[in-house]
Amino acid sequence: MILEVKGLTKSYNGHPAVAGIDLEMKDGEVFGLLGPNGAGKSTTISMVSGLVKPNAGSIRIGGIDIFQDPLASRRLIGVVPQDIALYPTLTARENLAFWGHMYGQSGADLRKRVDEVLELVGLADRANQRIDKYSGGMKRRINIGAGLMHRPKLLLMDEPTVGIDPQSRNHILDTVKELNRQGTSVLYTSHYMEEVEALCDRIAIMDLGKVMACGSLNELRLLVGDKDVITIQANVPEGKVLDDLRAIPGVDGVSKDDGHLRVVAPYGRKVLGDVVTRLAAGGVKVRSIDIKEPDLEGVFLHLTGKALRD
Ligand code: ADP
Repeated sequence: MILEVKGLTKSYNGHPAVAGIDLEMKDGEVFGLLGPNGAGKSTTISMVSGLVKPNAGSIRIGGIDIFQDPLASRRLIGVVPQDIALYPTLTARENLAFWGHMYGQSGADLRKRVDEVLELVGLADRANQRIDKYSGGMKRRINIGAGLMHRPKLLLMDEPTVGIDPQSRNHILDTVKELNRQGTSVLYTSHYMEEVEALCDRIAIMDLGKVMACGSLNELRLLVGDKDVITIQANVPEGKVLDDLRAIPGVDGVSKDDGHLRVVAPYGRKVLGDVVTRLAAGGVKVRSIDIKEPDLEGVFLHLTGKALRD
């Protein structure tokens, strides 16, 4: 087991940010923590990386208790924080070399590792450019590289693709896949279900500081059972129309985010007529309708009764 978390708890001003969670991550896994903003993902990652002290609970990394032997456990992890921790006036190569020095690397070994990491994050051709000339996404990629210099066994990534361009986002997803192929375990937090679906062997769905469910994508889908998710492209105002939809017999849950409405129902086709009628009665313009097996958004809606991106 690369990571074992038991009863992990952290409160701020009496409010639980993480409310007693258990997690187990096998060696070589990409494990996703998926949940909306405020679910407790960052606080969990901060505790695992040793930056935030929990109120209760235990954390083992590669079998080592991080409170009993913080130095040994810290050598096993690489941390990619949300904030960029780089020197803007240094080049990418110099920044990575700086981090390598911090981990005690030097000489030919350090130079070799800098080259490997530049290759891995796809910025070898820009290595000698100053970081302040980089785009936000490129900075993020070098920031990931900094966390990789000492060849960690477990990489902790906190929402690494928030607010960056699609090209860098794809690079980061490819980097995670390649790292994993080379044997690195990755704990990946995100509120983007597509990323988690594409990357993760197993997923813990978090909400309000708790793990609501944990398993592979298929296992999580089974939680929803044979239900369908109807996705409707339409702008629906809060209030009566949504209440009317929730009141349709056979509808289990309704959620909306920007421009999308999701309706969970055991038999999507049976309730579709009613759904459309009520939308029309409410004056809502429907742009498209799609009935599918549940994705992670559907699983989250089923578990919590709300949208992942509220
Ligand atoms: P996520 O990463 O899933 O968005 P966080 O772990 O950042 O969630 O936050 C969980 C909850 O804890 C939120 O309600 C947040 O406001 C609160 N929280 C997180 N860090 C702090 C802090 N340093 N001080 C006070 N409250 C915090």
